[in-house]
Amino acid sequence: MKIYNTLTRQKEEFIPIEDHKVRMYVCGPTVYNLIHIGNARPMIVFDTFRRYLEYKGYDVNYVSNFTDVDDKIIKKAMEESVDAGEIAKRYIAECKIDMENMNVKPATVHPLATQEIDGMIEMITTLMERGYAYAAADGTVYYRTEKFADYGKLSHKNLEDLQAGHREIKVAGELKENPFDFVLWKPKKEGEPAWPSPWGEGRPGWHIECSVMSKKYLGETIDIHAGGEDLIFPHHENEIAQSEAASGKEFAHYWMHNGFLNINNQKMSKSLGNFFTVRDIAQKYNLQVLRFFMLSAHYRSPLNFSADLMEAAKNGLERILTAAEQITRLAGAEKPAREMTKEEEDLLGQADVFRKKFEASMEDDCNTADAVAAVFELVKFMNTNASADHSQIYLQNLSGRLHVLCEILGIIIDAKQEVLDADIEKLIQERQEARKQKDFAKADQIRDELAQKGIILKDTREGVTWKRA
Ligand code: AMP
Ligand code: ZN
Repeated sequence: MKIYNTLTRQKEEFIPIEDHKVRMYVCGPTVYNLIHIGNARPMIVFDTFRRYLEYKGYDVNYVSNFTDVDDKIIKKAMEESVDAGEIAKRYIAECKIDMENMNVKPATVHPLATQEIDGMIEMITTLMERGYAYAAADGTVYYRTEKFADYGKLSHKNLEDLQAGHREIKVAGELKENPFDFVLWKPKKEGEPAWPSPWGEGRPGWHIECSVMSKKYLGETIDIHAGGEDLIFPHHENEIAQSEAASGKEFAHYWMHNGFLNINNQKMSKSLGNFFTVRDIAQKYNLQVLRFFMLSAHYRSPLNFSADLMEAAKNGLERILTAAEQITRLAGAEKPAREMTKEEEDLLGQADVFRKKFEASMEDDCNTADAVAAVFELVKFMNTNASADHSQIYLQNLSGRLHVLCEILGIIIDAKQEVLDADIEKLIQERQEARKQKDFAKADQIRDELAQKGIILKDTREGVTWKRA
């Protein structure tokens, strides 16, 4: 199996540290708000990669953190006059709901930064002892980037070039030796959460959290470290600097980074107002559709989010779910048991091509776009080569094949109704809203739109009920 390694900028054969085992760390979200659909991309693509590794028989130790102490969390807590811990707790719970609805498996461990402070103090102490860190007069502890010869190896940046580009950055007044030195420990400010440390009360910098949690749950050297491409520099570069200086060993063998999610071909950002939370999308779609949409592209490509592309994803998913429903029905029908015919055996041989294509795509740097295409080919094959005349054993075998591939993609195959119903419920709500606003033309238009989908509405005193025509 090949993985594109950001470290070497090429596809490399995957060789795990230990046979049949994979140690994988994926940087998780900072929990100060509902997660947005950009945050959902690494969750979905790396969950799919994990599922494929498990399908191949690897025992995957999959660690993904929650950053639960951070400036944004503290700001939100101040706005709401509550404890920062309460904000983090609330949005971790919300994030887990979204993950479940996107069918993202819980990690083996979801460590919390605030529960790992001792390990961070320990690593910072080691870095100090080895000359890789220094405490400034104000109690801030910095990493000494110049001391780490490999600094820049992941992002392919050179510290000297970086510095040349930043000559204008004022170092005077700041207490850093070098503008690229980064914070390992910051002193407490009034009203902020803080922990005791040898450098006074304070809290950890962001980068040290992941170095420490990765080491604690996966060991000093891991197989795969992953996250969005925005994390390559400085976050992952700094993690390497910390971990490798502290342990003297290579930190991670393979670095995987997903491309960014854009909206209508523009960078998705809060300030541009083109920003969707996963919860926003859940209002209109079953989140299986969002998952399927993400997997229809290669994880390293930029991916554009738009209403049209979501509709296309929904239609594609529906095609798969319809075929699944059909084959389940055929395979479950009562009929006299008989052996497979020679012709059926041949057909299964032909169907095996799609599994092979699926696997070859996943083996080629987790190419889910091509893997999805192989599933569509299998669906097409099933639509022409499965009927009530076939033997049960043949139909069950075909059905099993589709189930296995969909399970790797994390697509819940028996969820056709939920996928379809999500937007019907939404339209019904919109119609109710229109009626409340006395916009009867719009209400009627929605009723017609639903009628075209074969949905009959009935207004009752208890509310609106619906059935299929
Ligand atoms: P954050 O909470 O900003 O640290 O992000 C959590 C994860 O989501 C990281 O792996 C980010 O790289 C990733 N991420 C954030 N925004 C996007 C986006 N628009 N597209 C893809 N990944 C993103
Ligand atoms: Zn991280």
